[in-house]
Amino acid sequence: MSTTLAILGGEPVRREPWPGWPRSDERTMAAVREVLDSTRWALSGPSDGRVTFERRFAAAFARFSETAYCTPVSSGTAALTVALQSLGVGRGDEVLVPGLTWVACASAVVHLGAIPVLVDIDPATLTMNPGLARSAVTGRTRAIMVVHLASSVADLDAFTSLSESTGIPLLEDCAQAHGARWRSQRVGTFGQIGCFSMQQSKLLTAGEGGAAITSDASLHDKMEQLRSDGRRMHRADHPGQLELVEVGDTLGRNLCLSELQAAVLLDRLAHLEVENQGRRKLADVLAAALDDVEGVQVVLPDKRVSAPTYYNVTLRFDPGAFLGNSVDAIARALTAELGTGVNPVYVPLNRHRLLHPGGASRSDRTGAELAALRLSAFALPEAEEARRTCATITHPVLLDSEAGMDQIAAAIVKVRDQAGELLSLGQAPSARAF
Ligand SMILES: *Cc1c(COP(=O)(O)O)cnc(C)c1O
Repeated sequence: MSTTLAILGGEPVRREPWPGWPRSDERTMAAVREVLDSTRWALSGPSDGRVTFERRFAAAFARFSETAYCTPVSSGTAALTVALQSLGVGRGDEVLVPGLTWVACASAVVHLGAIPVLVDIDPATLTMNPGLARSAVTGRTRAIMVVHLASSVADLDAFTSLSESTGIPLLEDCAQAHGARWRSQRVGTFGQIGCFSMQQSKLLTAGEGGAAITSDASLHDKMEQLRSDGRRMHRADHPGQLELVEVGDTLGRNLCLSELQAAVLLDRLAHLEVENQGRRKLADVLAAALDDVEGVQVVLPDKRVSAPTYYNVTLRFDPGAFLGNSVDAIARALTAELGTGVNPVYVPLNRHRLLHPGGASRSDRTGAELAALRLSAFALPEAEEARRTCATITHPVLLDSEAGMDQIAAAIVKVRDQAGELLSLGQAPSARAF
């Protein structure tokens, strides 16, 4: 094997492409074709006598999640939005949000006129620290939003008990954890509502899409209306009738999933468990391959996660073992060796370039309220430490082979052993971070 780093013009550890994502097959095509050949492309269209893919997917995803109800929506952001709204979150309310997650978690709160209170993470799992969450609760806290990040599940024992003892609803963002189980129970069913994204990078996807699950009939009824302009769904008696009926008691908007997306999701859901098992198996192989590689550790899920899922495998580097190279430089070098994106974790939300609460709609807020949204005031030292040391490998890689996991280990060893060469390159933060 060439010892010159690929980023400096050497031979990369791997040239073959990794498995592609998203996936589809003839059955996915057939489902999409069934929609295209029909006259029902949207929930808001007239009935053609069939049960919509949207309703079929809602039933299938509720069953998969082992809960009563599912409301499909247009995105993960839409799921968070209708979930927060159904819980009554509004102007001036505080919502606990982890300091290390995708910006949509905080921006969904901001767009409702509410205040994201950023809570630092537990360094072992990179999910919200329950002790810090407890200290962040005030008289105005209206919801606790935990995020199951990468391959981790937030400490649901601690968060359900925090929610029960304070009476503050728990919302689980499961956008990165479709199918995970905590103590044998599906994630998304511990709190009042579980939110999912089906955006293209996610473990279940139709390009865009989302869902909110609950066991509470009244929250479900509210979320159904919130995503369809306040209308409720009633099965038509005759073709030609509308099924979204103008009876409701909530001001909504259109955040519906299209029939094309629902058809893709219903088809791909049938593959999720098998794909999750495959990813789990190779994640274990990778962890074993890295077990005695000095300078890197896999961030492992908590022992209580009885069925982990792998949206990302998070690797924690010891910059010292890499002669002080930044995680950004290490990640760039690994990307060049492997031909797949290795990316530093998210920039903490107290300094993320995409979060400008001051730029949110001002119509319903005073200057004092906007001033209260100064996210830079939150201290997130553990999120910063994660950003300094951790990078992720994305899940399509875990649909490869055991040999592929050995290549990842070999690439890490190569970059570590040639870390001196790497120092000559820029150490600046990567523009894109996940
Ligand atoms: C992807 C993601 C979202 C947002 O989902 P969209 O479908 O892009 O709106 C929210 N939270 C987390 C943790 C995510 O990973």
